[in-house]
Amino acid sequence: MRVGIGHDTHRLEAGRPLLLGGVRVEHPRGLAGHSDADVVLHAVTDALLGAAGLGDIGDAYPDDDPRWRGADSALFLKETLARLNRDGWRVVNVDVIVFAQEPKLGPVKAAVRANLARLLGLPPDAVNVKAKTGERVGHIGRGEAMACQAVALIERDRPTIRNEEYF
Ligand code: MG
Repeated sequence: MRVGIGHDTHRLEAGRPLLLGGVRVEHPRGLAGHSDADVVLHAVTDALLGAAGLGDIGDAYPDDDPRWRGADSALFLKETLARLNRDGWRVVNVDVIVFAQEPKLGPVKAAVRANLARLLGLPPDAVNVKAKTGERVGHIGRGEAMACQAVALIERDRPTIRNEEYF
């Protein structure tokens, strides 16, 4: 088994759609970035890449590559999942914390969880989505940005080995 961590931050800007975990959330402002700036999908993708020892999302999908301008970030997650699967890895579970002062994410969490589970091919209880405000301090609390943290556990079958074999 392997564990990976992911973190991402994006600025909020007027006139952009707000996408969280591939779910469109009604809000006067959305996240700014080269792709669709889905902070949740970026953090989860980074957690998976980290667990598999495959670097980070910036290595895999550079933000100066015109191919990814306005890209649906579900592509990054699905392609990363396929890379892991090709190497024999499957995802066990994912846990996510979204940091946003507004809007209130309570009503949105279930939809984000369901969509992440769908994208990852996991049962809903293997994906958890939590939300925190910024307590009105810092860049999150002032509503200037949203952030996301994610952890992912992955596993693959391998022959039983003993540590002594490395001595
Ligand atoms: Mg990002």
